[in-house]
Amino acid sequence: MFEVIKELDSLQIDLFSNMYIDSIIFLNENILFRRDSNVTYVYFPWKLLKGTVNFIKVFYNGVPQEAKNPPWGGGFVWNKDKNGKPWVGVACEGVGASLWWPNKDHLSDEPDRFTIHLTVPSELMGVSNGRLVNKKRLKNGYTKYSWLVDNPINNYNITMNVADYELFKDVYVNVDGDSLSLDYYVFPYNLDTARAHFVQTKDMLECFEKLCGSYPFYKDGFKLVEASYWGMEHQSCIAYGNNFENNRWGFDYILIHESAHEWFGNSLSCTDHAEMWLHEAFATYMEALYMECKYGFERSVDYLRSQRIFINKEPLLGPMDVNFRYWISSDIYYKGSWMLHTLRNVIGDDALWFDIINIFTTKYKKSSVKTSDFTSIVSNESGRKLDYFFEQYLKKAELPVFKYKLKRKKKNQLEFEYMWDAQAKGFRMPIKVTTEKDKYTMIFPDEKWKSMTLDNLKMDEFKIAEHLYLIKTEQLK
Ligand SMILES: [Zn+2]
Repeated sequence: MFEVIKELDSLQIDLFSNMYIDSIIFLNENILFRRDSNVTYVYFPWKLLKGTVNFIKVFYNGVPQEAKNPPWGGGFVWNKDKNGKPWVGVACEGVGASLWWPNKDHLSDEPDRFTIHLTVPSELMGVSNGRLVNKKRLKNGYTKYSWLVDNPINNYNITMNVADYELFKDVYVNVDGDSLSLDYYVFPYNLDTARAHFVQTKDMLECFEKLCGSYPFYKDGFKLVEASYWGMEHQSCIAYGNNFENNRWGFDYILIHESAHEWFGNSLSCTDHAEMWLHEAFATYMEALYMECKYGFERSVDYLRSQRIFINKEPLLGPMDVNFRYWISSDIYYKGSWMLHTLRNVIGDDALWFDIINIFTTKYKKSSVKTSDFTSIVSNESGRKLDYFFEQYLKKAELPVFKYKLKRKKKNQLEFEYMWDAQAKGFRMPIKVTTEKDKYTMIFPDEKWKSMTLDNLKMDEFKIAEHLYLIKTEQLK
């Protein structure tokens, strides 16, 4: 079903060429269509007028491509559980949902709601996004599960899981007294482990609702479904495959990360893969904020230190409008997380920083979002011009280098010279250094050498607050 926003007599839909289209029906009649690689052009018998709502039915079949390396190399995942029973899933972010069902396969548009019917052998369960609205046992040994998503949803988030699951339920009640159903689909042999392990879902919801506003999909509920791959943020039906393991910080980062995508990626969604940092940097940073919720700022900084695994060989922002998804690194995750941590410390006002996050998730709840939407909120709320910051961290691969010289003038007195060497013009990020033993002070370096005298500081007491900023440092003689 689609609404016409511009008069048309033909339409493009996407479906991988290995899938066979049998017929396309419009007003109970077969209509013409032409296939060209993964694209199908549909021809209507007359012009469809602006503002009209129309239906087409696409009858298709085939064996969808298999995932080579799920969830990154997308496709179907055919597996067996420990009892040798079928275990089927699909993950298609990046490659596109049109690998298994026909749609307008572009991030800039989302279905407003979605129904999916899964007919599976009755000894298995078929689990998809949203609410189970009907379950019907058929005479042929199969059962039909009908699921309704009553929210806008990215195509790649639409999923199916078929296995011998067992369902256990819980309920989360938020600060306003609203109830959210928590449904967990796990294997019977993992039931006890899962019951104990998934308790952290409530801690996560409490923390993320405090920071980012209420969970965006109360109507559709929250589900975790055992998957044979690591994880994927399928909206209201998160694929979970981390073996019920906590990391050394005491939480399951897959559960936390994928759930963070409900706010960053599923609720607010980018319109171009080039801006995928809006999903991944935030979801990765939310892992650190979850640490902060649980154990405070210091521990979250320790956690962030464990995320310093980036290579700085490509910018966080990819080339726009070319369906770019060819990242050579995981920098949009970890470097992105550190960029946000750095931004927080540049803003230097935690209350304001958390307001910015909340305004971002609230203003763009269930909407498309661009990088400039975020940077505008930052500049409007902080009243600061931070173009140089975003230019450097989003559009350049390299890190800014803080260059400095220290000379001993007399006992406990140092001559300190410093400057930025960065790719972004006018880079002038303020940072903190020690001006007295263990006392950090904000300084305002720019692209030219500046100097100051540090009284009361020994050479080995000088520190740059590298735990607060993503920078390189270079001491010159
Ligand atoms: Zn992610």
